[in-house]
Amino acid sequence: MYDIIVIGAGTAGLTAGIYGSRAGKSVLILEQKTYGGQIINTPDIENYPGLAHVSGFQFAQGLYDQAIGLGVDYKSEGVVSVTDGDIKVVKTSEAEYECKAVIIATGAKNRPLGLEKEQEMVGAGVSYCATCDGAFFRNKDVAVIGGGNTALEDAAFLSNYCNKVYLIHRRDQFRGDEKDVALLREKENVEFVLDSVPESILGDDMVSGIRVKNVKTDAVTDISVKGIFIAIGQMPDNNAFSNIVKLDDQGYIIADESCETGTKGIYAAGDCRTKTVRQLTTAAADGAVAALAAAKI
Ligand code: NAP
Repeated sequence: MYDIIVIGAGTAGLTAGIYGSRAGKSVLILEQKTYGGQIINTPDIENYPGLAHVSGFQFAQGLYDQAIGLGVDYKSEGVVSVTDGDIKVVKTSEAEYECKAVIIATGAKNRPLGLEKEQEMVGAGVSYCATCDGAFFRNKDVAVIGGGNTALEDAAFLSNYCNKVYLIHRRDQFRGDEKDVALLREKENVEFVLDSVPESILGDDMVSGIRVKNVKTDAVTDISVKGIFIAIGQMPDNNAFSNIVKLDDQGYIIADESCETGTKGIYAAGDCRTKTVRQLTTAAADGAVAALAAAKI
């Protein structure tokens, strides 16, 4: 029996563990993958207050070590269901745990483009993680899809390894930071392919290119690449909790800045909940808010 069970060990979940433990509560964090969440693949974080430069891995490791050092229990188990009541029952693939409060901090997962062959080509040229797979494309031509900070960072990272990087974005304005766009514009081996949407992945067993359509001219172009890095944002993965919390039409848990879900003792923290800004700072803030509220149950 725990006071608080946290589902997810990204920035929000680990911060919830730190705050819950410091509030004198017994805390268990359950994570189906590895701890750290999405930020673990970011080579350099430049916008966390007080840390001018830190790698995503270092940041995540620091959070994990801090939580474990404070006495938080951690288990690498995926949650399959949560049953509500004064005592909540959290069922994983391996066991059942009881607690007084649950903090859902499941973050979000990579959004697919939805193209034919996209999923079967993962590992054969299609990737959602430039820092994990970039080295396989040394001296090759690759495409990055997206216009947010992840796509910009991926393009910059890949330009250090690859012969050529095509940055394909559906508009002519970027969602990501202008500073990063300016840096990319100066790179000789980065070409911007703007106002363009991917239509299909070319190649039979391995990626040989990508077909894009210009949304202003309708012109269709085949670009020869060996790798396609998809960085078009994230989507939530909250279906396991739809019986205990309300989800919006995109699948995010409906909760405001209090992290309260409307179900007593169930909180949602970080990228998995409805919010307009999804940043490390806001994830950490949610973890603290949710844990301090859960500690009062
Ligand atoms: P994002 O900011 O949501 O950007 C997604 C991009 O993909 C947008 O440019 C979007 O185009 C495009 N897109 C979405 N669906 C598409 C589709 N079906 N086809 C083609 N393009 C599509 O996602 P993100 O870049 O992963 O960033 C997520 C959050 O993490 C952001 O808040 C970001 O600032 C943050 N982040 C921060 C850092 C850092 O601080 N170091 C690093 C990475 C990410 P439109 O612009 O036209 O909508």
